[in-house]
Amino acid sequence: MEVGKVVPQDFHIWEGHASFVIFTIGCNMQCPYCFVPDLVRHRVSKLDWFPKLRPVIHSIDSVVITGGEPLMQKYLPVVCKKLKLEGLKVRIETNGSKPDVLKSLIRMKVIDSVALDVKAPFGDYQALTNSQVSPENVKKSIGLLQESGIEHELRTTWSPNLTEEQIAEIAKQCSGSTWVLQEFKPGGCLDASYDSKEQTNYEKLKSLASRVTGPARVLIKTGKGEELIR
Ligand code: SF4
Repeated sequence: MEVGKVVPQDFHIWEGHASFVIFTIGCNMQCPYCFVPDLVRHRVSKLDWFPKLRPVIHSIDSVVITGGEPLMQKYLPVVCKKLKLEGLKVRIETNGSKPDVLKSLIRMKVIDSVALDVKAPFGDYQALTNSQVSPENVKKSIGLLQESGIEHELRTTWSPNLTEEQIAEIAKQCSGSTWVLQEFKPGGCLDASYDSKEQTNYEKLKSLASRVTGPARVLIKTGKGEELIR
């Protein structure tokens, strides 16, 4: 598996867990606000990550595999299986573009939780992610999570290129699931012009999250952590 970075112990990425975090290299989207441009553009060297897990394995309960897009990694199922055999819980963070891989991970029972980014209204997906990814695949991935009953959350970053109306539409696409609206924070973005844009205003974030309809539960996420809205 192509890994560019690890964080040995993190208490925030998966609320309620102490996690070893793995960042994979490469992504099939080019979101302008992406905060891991070096991973997306393959500007990092491959890391021998497994030896870094061993010294901390007794101080964590889980591994979060994020990216980049981890579901593009050929050996992801094998790695997840290995982690489960170590007695660890596994969470995947994905952009939802690979429903077939997601389906096999769920069927193999090698993941415990999924965080899926819903980045745009389905009609605007390719334009807003600067990619050729099919929004139908993202729809399928959401359906799979909801049908399987696996622990999951759907998430949206309020990027400066999304209007309030578009956010409300995205929330409807997440009907029935937990949905987390995250703040945008400038600094080190994939599209450097986003670094001069304003950070999402907390009150606006909270107000919009409280008005949307569709999701079963709504939270907001800022630098201070998660906050349940309803
Ligand atoms: S934010 Fe977009 S470009 Fe960056 S890793 Fe996630 S899906 Fe890929």
